[in-house]
Amino acid sequence: HAKDRGRGQFQFFRSELDAHVRERVTLEADLRRALDENSFTLEFQPQVNAAGIIVAAEALLRWQHPQRGVLPPDCFIPIAEESGLIVPLGRWVLHSACRAAALWPAPQGVRVAVNISVEQLRDPRLVTDVASALAASGLDPHRLELEITESVLIDEPEAMLASLEALRALGIRVALDDFGTGYSSLSYLRRLPLDTLKLDGSFIADLERDTPDATITYSVIELAHRLGLEVIAERVETPGQRARLCEHQCDLLQGYLLSRPLSTQAFSARLAESRIS
Ligand code: C2E
Ligand code: CA
Ligand code: CA
Ligand code: CA
Repeated sequence: HAKDRGRGQFQFFRSELDAHVRERVTLEADLRRALDENSFTLEFQPQVNAAGIIVAAEALLRWQHPQRGVLPPDCFIPIAEESGLIVPLGRWVLHSACRAAALWPAPQGVRVAVNISVEQLRDPRLVTDVASALAASGLDPHRLELEITESVLIDEPEAMLASLEALRALGIRVALDDFGTGYSSLSYLRRLPLDTLKLDGSFIADLERDTPDATITYSVIELAHRLGLEVIAERVETPGQRARLCEHQCDLLQGYLLSRPLSTQAFSARLAESRIS
């Protein structure tokens, strides 16, 4: 009967939902434990200039889960954000990234870029956290860049702007990540105190054909330069994309073509070679 089938389906969805909730609760508990047990690591993905020289690296978080192996951030960052765990986790990332970067050969002055969630920016202690990560590591503030997304201005824009200004007063850099994916990107360029614009990887995929994405990419590079911002393209995967971006004066490139994210040791070894051809 249709009715029975309906009930069966309802029960099916319910058990699916239960499984989903259980999974979430388990992951959240695991995440709490992982923070105590130090089961996180960072990988560093090079950002190179047109000459192939490494200028900076983005710190990307990895979780060494005891049963599930290495988990990518998309599996647990949302849970960390919803549960508030992103604040202590983000503090760990900041400290670890600064400590690692402080050990990179100083004359090159290679920067480190750290992803910051809105929840962290909303936390009034963020400015103090950043200042203490810099002090504890001895890293020159100019070598730290925080990557934020447009979502920072969705609510409490005034408080967020005040936080960003306070951060910049420390001498660090601010990058706008995933640029072009939000709804009001241009107004963000006007309002946010920024040093770098990070063009979202989705624009790069089709660059080798004359698509609207290509037109937008080249126009955004020009616009950003006129505003005095540096431009990074992410998810650069092919030589053709690299050539197009360099032709249009994109400042920095990041993506598998240049390098996958590397362990701390592998990144230091790569820095010693310095140039990515
Ligand atoms: P994102 O900030 O946009 O970081 C770039 C992502 O693209 C990384 O994924 C990187 O591994 C991946 N990627 C790099 N090159 C290529 C490429 O050539 N092709 C493709 N298809 N992908 C490429 P990952 O490491 O899985 O990180 C995913 C997202 O998790 C990041 O996106 C960022 O939003 C977030 N995330 C990572 N680490 C942190 C962190 O420490 N704190 C916070 N709040 N978020 C983080
Ligand atoms: Ca990022
Ligand atoms: Ca991004
Ligand atoms: Ca992202």
